[in-house]
Formats: sequence, structure tokens, C-alpha cells
Amino acid sequence: MSRPTIVLATRNPGKIREIRQVLTGLEVRIAALDEFGQVPEPAETGDTFAQNACEKAHYYAKATGQWCLADDSGLMVDALDGLPGVQSARYAAGECPPSAPRSVSDAANNRKLLAALADVAEENRTARFVCCLALSDGQRIRIQTFDTVEGRIGHAPRGENGFGYDPLFVVEGKGRTAAELPADEKNAVSHRGKALQHFARLLREIL
Ligand code: IMP
Repeated sequence: MSRPTIVLATRNPGKIREIRQVLTGLEVRIAALDEFGQVPEPAETGDTFAQNACEKAHYYAKATGQWCLADDSGLMVDALDGLPGVQSARYAAGECPPSAPRSVSDAANNRKLLAALADVAEENRTARFVCCLALSDGQRIRIQTFDTVEGRIGHAPRGENGFGYDPLFVVEGKGRTAAELPADEKNAVSHRGKALQHFARLLREIL
């Protein structure tokens, strides 16, 4: 019998890499959206990570006819009342065009975050990454998981691994940014890694 397919409802290469790393070994075929041609990206209009994850999972499941796993995630900074939050990917949208490559928008987001925290003292630079995962069969959400990782925003980017805000996010208990951690070390403690491990346990129960 062929293995069931789950399509990753994202075009973010950093997310795709981490999801594949953690879900390796599951009795499913993980497929990329690229296999399904030009599916336009949905507008992300939700106020919460959970809402956005469920909307993306349903949207792509309907568009592809396959079960789809969506990840909605972001950075919440205490001194900024939870910003950039659900706007994490587009935090510096005013400073770079929507067509900018991801590396350019990530760098602009990091610059904007450092500027916003310029006068914030060390003890108030606390933050967390959050991740909500949702698996849709096209009709309903079959699995939803959520997790977080605590940390602090550093004063300058450090490290070459990971993506997004990783070079600024000093992981609690590690003393290194998420971009300084090898992939398996980040996945073991990260918001996405933990949400994926929970997801994998629940998926095994329904397969
Ligand atoms: P989404 O596509 O709306 O879920 O946007 C998620 C955004 O949050 C990404 O583009 C990154 O800016 C940020 N983000 C989420 N997870 C991570 C992570 O693991 N490391 C660094 N940045 C992340």
C-alpha cells in the first residue's frame, strides 16, 4: 500500500527544511506545493496564529485535493506588546517591496526589530517564538498543535544557520542565538520542533 501524502502548505524554505527534518521516519510522503503548479498564496487575515494556520491548511487542501499541513509562526517581543506577532513575516513591509527575496525581507525585519529595541534594557528584551500547526483534510482540521520557545533579543545578528529572526533570538538556557545552533539542536528545543514532535505523535494515532 502506498504511503499517504501530506502536502506542506508553505513556500518558506526554512520551515520546509525543519518540518522535513523532524517528520523524517513517519509513514507518510511529505510533498511540496511546487508539485501542484501555480497555487496563489492566500491572504493571511487572521488575528491569531491558530486562525491563520487553519485557514492556510484548508485553503491548500482544497486547492491540491490532498491533506495539507500548515505552519503559522512568529516572534512575540514583550517590550513591543507581542509584536511583530502574526505580522512577523511582513514586519518591515514598509521598508522593502513584497517582491523582495526572503533574505532581504528577513534582514529588513531584523534591522527594524533592533531599532525598535534600541533603548530597551537587557532584562526587558524577553521574547518567544510561537508555532501553530494545523492539518486539514479539506473538510476539517484533523490535528492542531502549538508550542513556544523562550529567549531574548540580542543586540546584533549572530550565526549563519536557520532563517528569519534566528540570528537575533538568544535561546533561553543555550546562551547562543537560534542561528548559532546546529539544526538538530534547534529542532529539539524550538517552537516548531516541539509542535512537530507533538504533531507526529497525534498523526501516528490516526494513520
Ligand atoms: P508566517 O509565514 O506568517 O507563519 O511567518 C512566519 C515568520 O515568523 C517567518 O517569516 C519569520 O520571520 C518568523 N519565524 C517563524 N519561525 C521562525 C523561526 O524558527 N526562526 C526565525 N524566524 C521565525
